[in-house]
Amino acid sequence: MDFCPKCGKLLHTEKNNNNETILICLKCGFKRGLGENEEVAFTEEVKHNLVKEMTTVFDETQADSTKPTEDKYCEDCKKIQKVSFWMIQTRSADESPTRFFRCTKCDKTWREYD
Ligand SMILES: [Zn+2]
Ligand SMILES: [Zn+2]
Repeated sequence: MDFCPKCGKLLHTEKNNNNETILICLKCGFKRGLGENEEVAFTEEVKHNLVKEMTTVFDETQADSTKPTEDKYCEDCKKIQKVSFWMIQTRSADESPTRFFRCTKCDKTWREYD
């Protein structure tokens, strides 16, 4: 949490035109970039990229047939299928690990939604 050095108001997190996260004061318009050690809340876009990244990791280890499976509804097959799953700890350590699933029939991959 950060405060405006000019007027003392709480700074809000926003995206600038380059899609970088910046801190902005809604009262006086003061802006600055985020410090390196500051926590940034994941945007939906970042989360989406993270899923893509994790899916890629899964692809590379696909030969590993020891992944557990469970019976789960696959939206593409429109029925219950054997689905592999694995856990990923997102970069934010205080979030619980996300579960990813992959249908063993059609290869549809998705993450568990809360
Ligand atoms: Zn201000
Ligand atoms: Zn499927």
